Amino acid sequence: MSMRVKLAVIFVVLAFGCKRETVSPVTPALVSQAEFNLVASGGNCSNTNVQGGYEVSIPTGINDFVIVQVNVTAPGKYVVSTPAINGLSFSDSGTFNSTGVTSIFLKANGTPLSGGNFSFALNAGSSVCSFEVSVFDPSLSTIAENDHMYFGNPSNAAAIIDSANNYLMRKPYYSISYSRDMGKPNWVSWHLYASDLGNTPRLNDFRPDFTLPAGWYQVQSNSYSGSGFDRGHNIPSADRTSSLSANSATFLMTNMIPQAPNNNQLTWASFEDSLRRLVNGGSEIYIIMGNYGVGGTGSYGYTTTVDNGRVTVPAYIWKVAVVMQNGINDSARVNANTRIISVLVPNDNNVSSNWKGYRTSIDVIEAATGYDLLSRMPAALQALIEAKVDNL
Ligand code: MN
Ligand code: MN
Repeated sequence: MSMRVKLAVIFVVLAFGCKRETVSPVTPALVSQAEFNLVASGGNCSNTNVQGGYEVSIPTGINDFVIVQVNVTAPGKYVVSTPAINGLSFSDSGTFNSTGVTSIFLKANGTPLSGGNFSFALNAGSSVCSFEVSVFDPSLSTIAENDHMYFGNPSNAAAIIDSANNYLMRKPYYSISYSRDMGKPNWVSWHLYASDLGNTPRLNDFRPDFTLPAGWYQVQSNSYSGSGFDRGHNIPSADRTSSLSANSATFLMTNMIPQAPNNNQLTWASFEDSLRRLVNGGSEIYIIMGNYGVGGTGSYGYTTTVDNGRVTVPAYIWKVAVVMQNGINDSARVNANTRIISVLVPNDNNVSSNWKGYRTSIDVIEAATGYDLLSRMPAALQALIEAKVDNL
């Protein structure tokens, strides 16, 4: 090939290549695409209405959405969405059937990661604006007096599906950190005061907890049958006798652990009775009950699981009670002299009925579990209060 022919070939290749790259993609004619603008757009989206409650770690639901007014100039299909910020985004799609001002409902999607105010930019049609969403962070906020988790969340349990083995369930009568894979709570936390104690009889309506996320195994009322272990309440039936619904709530299987019968019926029952006597004597008590380890000894000997492996039998069971005289401003009143009763009992049918022999310090329970109990108390106070062993 002569130089002239080579250059000609190169020129043709380059020209062809360049031409191919400069061809514009063919845009299909979207005849049904709507044309519309945000009403009163620019800066803040005026007329925007943010609905719902946004809380850290709580997935958004059907009540969480934003209403925005738009002016439709050409009916058709539309898609509107915001970028994800702080784990949240908002979107809507549908069809505008006529021209004029109408509302779109941007559904909230996702789970907020942290608290604060977050601005979401909204592009719709040829207009742009933004709206603000406030996300509540319970760990930073003032928790209501007598909240079941008033003195803290020992394991930073979260109400998100990814936290399957430290899954937070905030219920009206108590709060739980639940383990899906162990089929039992890690801990249950509740406030007990005189008005919780009434005349409602024990309902015994043991049942699965239907509020667990879809697809999770629900421990059944008969899951412990024949195992040699009791369905051991965390929050006791007798701590919720003010109404039928209060008592019934304690019989959800998410509130149960496989507990050695003597541990449950003797040691634990007498400790629970002692706490209720304190309440009847003018105290209010914040209680956290939990368990850890694998393997216990029930009526038929040692085992690690029941229900064909779906429920883990814990090795140890603990409880911490913060006992205060009835009153208000509990976080301000608690001090180094506040009575703390902590017990740690093996899940063994050979335990003593005398719960006082199992008293220990919170420090011991924290070391064994890795939890931070009473984490909402000042660190200096925790250091004092958590080293104490009750001796009254
Ligand atoms: Mn109180
Ligand atoms: Mn602590």
